[in-house]
This record gives sequence, C-alpha cells and structure tokens, in this order.
Amino acid sequence: MLCIKCGTRDAVYKGLCESCVWEGLAFDKPGSITFTSCPKCGAVKVVNYWAHHEAHERWSRKVYELFRVNEPFKIESFSPIELNKIEDTAYLKATVKRDELDSKTFPLEIPYKRELISCPTCNKVTGSYYESKVQLRGFSEKMSPEINNIHEELLKMVESNQKKDPESFVSKSVQLREGIDIYLGKKKDGDTFAREIQSKTICNVVVSSSLAGIKDGKQFFRFTYMIRILDIEPGSLIFFDNVKYIYQGKRPGGIYVTDLKKGEITLINKRIIDFDKLRETGEKAQKEKFIVLDRTENETNLMNERTYSQITLKSVIKEDQVELFFYEDNYYGILGDK
Ligand SMILES: [Zn+2]
Ligand SMILES: [Zn+2]
Repeated sequence: MLCIKCGTRDAVYKGLCESCVWEGLAFDKPGSITFTSCPKCGAVKVVNYWAHHEAHERWSRKVYELFRVNEPFKIESFSPIELNKIEDTAYLKATVKRDELDSKTFPLEIPYKRELISCPTCNKVTGSYYESKVQLRGFSEKMSPEINNIHEELLKMVESNQKKDPESFVSKSVQLREGIDIYLGKKKDGDTFAREIQSKTICNVVVSSSLAGIKDGKQFFRFTYMIRILDIEPGSLIFFDNVKYIYQGKRPGGIYVTDLKKGEITLINKRIIDFDKLRETGEKAQKEKFIVLDRTENETNLMNERTYSQITLKSVIKEDQVELFFYEDNYYGILGDK
C-alpha cells in the first residue's frame, strides 16, 4: 500500500509513509525557562528545592520533563542543555523515535532567564545558624593534642556528610582555653559524632537541650553535646576509686593502669570508669631508658642509660633496651603499643 498523503512511498504507519509520518511530528515545549543559582555556592534551584550536587543535571532533568511529542512519537533522549548567556537562549537536542528502528535528532531552542539568589543553606551559614553544639573538653579542662585530633575528625565527618546533605555544615569552631566549641548546622551530626567518639575512645558525654525558638511552626530545640575526653598523659599518677595508680594509657575497651602495690599493669573496663571517681594527683612518673645487661630465668639486670646505675627486675625482659616508669624509688613497666 502506498502512502495516502504523497502516494509515492510505502505506507508504514496509519497509511502514511516514513517521511510523511515525521512531517506530523509536533513538539510541545515551554515558552521559556529560568535558571536560578546561588552566587555563593553554585547551588541550583530545581522547582522547589535547592540542588547542591549534580545541580545542573538535576535542573536539566526537570526541564526535559517540560517537553512532549505527539503520538506515535516518543522522546528517547536529550543532549545536555547549553545556556547561552549572550543570546539568553538555551540550546539542546532531542532524539525522537517512532519505533525501535526509526529515530531522529532535533535541535531545540528556548529563551531562558538567569536569576541569582542566595540559597537557604548559605543564608544559614552566613547567619551563623546552628542546631547543635559539640563541646570538646579534656579531662582536666585544658587543651590537649587529642582534643585537636578529635576536632579534626568532627570537621571531616561533617564535610563528608555535606556531600550528601547541604544542611550538614560547621557554622563555626571556637577555640577556648578549656577546649573547643563546634557549632553544627544539623542536630544529627552532633548526635552521630558523640556516639562515634564514645565507641572509639574513653570519654564522658552529657547531652542537654534548650528551647531556641519556633521554626516552621514548631518548637525548635538546640542540643549541646559536652564530650569530656580522657586525655590523661601516660605516666600521670591517678586515683581511681581511692586507689593510686600510674596511668598507662587507653584502648577503646578501657584504661590500663599500674597498681603501685602489685606493680602489674591491669585493665579497668570502660563500663566501670566513672569520671567522678577518677582524678589526677598532679604527680608524674619519670620515664627512664635502660639497657639489658644480662638475664636469668626469672630476673633481668638493667643499666640506666642516663645515670649508669644498675637495677634488677624480677621479670624477664626479651628486648635489649627498655623504658620504665620511675616513681617513689620503684620501677614499673610501660604498656606497649599493641
Ligand atoms: Zn508519504
Ligand atoms: Zn548557596
């Protein structure tokens, strides 16, 4: 059967030939489009939300949805949208198919308008908005390298969360004599971090909240996570539950201490560590280096590297050199790195 329109070619669809069918293609396209972006962070407004990642792609997908073609055609794909700022025209191409075998690509152009608006996240950041505050403190309310490290970890966590959620941000970090206060855009970040740090190290977390106002018609609370880190320096003398120990160090499961009477290193499980029962005496055991002179089955003779004085330990030391803590006329072993 020949085409009912041109009468020269074979009919393929509803009595029309291939080229006469394509002549009937009609695009339904928007009269104009608007591209709204944030001048501060580059976020793009997509209908009613702000896209901070793959912003141009997300905006483009919404624009694509504004195009229609009539039956029996279907839009197969779009090219990226090119925004020509000088001509105020958006250029793109649409590939249209009639059936699986037959497709054609058409250039399209639409007038577009450019708008620059500061996005809500940037407004919040510059307005020093915050939902939660993390207070990092040391055991004795003074700064320590560990507080700085944990601060770095928190910044990294928020930075990584921000890739998925722009509402995650650090509003500000305030360095104080007794620690660091970090103001966070999202309550959940403070919560997650406090939990994470509790599982990783020995610390005491106190959460408090206060009514900060009304937001979206609801009461809005601000949360404070006061994280007190056990950052006692190894070698410090401590009292725990009224017993005096040399503090050796900590692991996620607890703290290692030397009982002065027994001279042995023992673990105090983190579950029973109560910060109220723990205090530093202010004294420190001195670290001394020794060279092993000789050893028997149960003793080791050592020489102090600094003073050349010799001591005998009632234990076997396998290494050729060793460090010991010295406190009140006695020497104590030091917890290894394992
Ligand atoms: Zn025809
Ligand atoms: Zn922005």
